Amino acid sequence: MSSQQDLKPVSPALPPTDGSRGLSGSEVQQRLAQYGSKAARSGQARHLSAFYSIRRNRMNYRDQFRIKPGNSVKLDKMDAAFKDKHEDQASALVETEKYTHRLRELQYLLYAEDKRSLLIILQAMDAGGKDGTINHVLGSMNPQGAKVYGFKVPSAEEAAHDFLWRIHLAAPHRGQVAIFNRSHYEDVLVSRVHSLVPKKVWSKRYDLINDFEKSLVDNGTHILKFYLHISKDEQLRRFKQRIDDPTRHWKISESDYTEREYWDDYTKAFEDALSSCSTEHAPWFVIPGDHKWFRNLAVSQIVVETLESLKMEFPQPTVDIKEIKARYHEAEEDAGAKNGKVKNIKKGKK
Ligand code: ATP
Ligand code: MG
Repeated sequence: MSSQQDLKPVSPALPPTDGSRGLSGSEVQQRLAQYGSKAARSGQARHLSAFYSIRRNRMNYRDQFRIKPGNSVKLDKMDAAFKDKHEDQASALVETEKYTHRLRELQYLLYAEDKRSLLIILQAMDAGGKDGTINHVLGSMNPQGAKVYGFKVPSAEEAAHDFLWRIHLAAPHRGQVAIFNRSHYEDVLVSRVHSLVPKKVWSKRYDLINDFEKSLVDNGTHILKFYLHISKDEQLRRFKQRIDDPTRHWKISESDYTEREYWDDYTKAFEDALSSCSTEHAPWFVIPGDHKWFRNLAVSQIVVETLESLKMEFPQPTVDIKEIKARYHEAEEDAGAKNGKVKNIKKGKK
């Protein structure tokens, strides 16, 4: 059952902000006042106040990590171990939790509004952290309004179609969030590195991808694309962790090691994809990924800031709330009267 009632927010969503800056103290108070004094006294108010104070003081990763259209990306110039002002996981965790909490509220609003959708694309080298990002950041969303699609080697049916066919089928409908674990970018990454198709085929795909993404955007989909940037050393450390931990043995595949030998080819292919396909309407973000906790913070902030900037609003009620309230009170009185009778009967009174 796809029911809106089941998609309860953790707490009511605030009226949207402009998304480009944090709010001042008085703006926070104003927003809290819109909730009424009851909410202002509650933990809800404390949570929101903390959330907006974090937004006031934060670095803006949405600007910092976005690839500007037309820029030529050089991944070895980008520090995969960057962690901003944070010394360790503990200092980033509080902020990340505020963002993931807010993400759930905003997803509820997106679902309720039912006007547009969000597509999040994750790409990385093997062990780059796609699964971890889905688990720790995007996992805070209600599964009824969010779907994850993993794109593997195309099936016979998929391969018999154009490369965007299976992708289009998974595109989110209005009100929904879709998360792609790998995507159509594999068709300019693995396909190029391993010459699965000739150059004259894959080289045309950048334009095809840009046109395809534009058509989704024109149809109300917001697209965020994250390249989780890890260093070659960090990849090896993660492979070792998998070997040392029996509960992760199932994750090890031979291809992890064979693909590692193509590191430089993949880097070049990623750089071209990021440079050619970061557009105003569907930006790529290069997220420093050696510190998993920093990656989670950056991704959660960017997704939340983007959703805030959409200025979403709850739809107008389809019923007359005053009338419904009056009917509720009548029903309450009726129920009260009936309960009173039952009590009297039990006590033997007429
Ligand atoms: P994990 O991180 O858990 O290993 P994964 O995303 O790497 O997850 P795998 O099943 O290990 O999942 O790998 C999927 C494989 O499918 C990758 O090697 C990827 O390159 C390949 N693949 C995805 N899309 C295509 C495509 N269009 N053409 C060819 N290969 C593809
Ligand atoms: Mg794999």
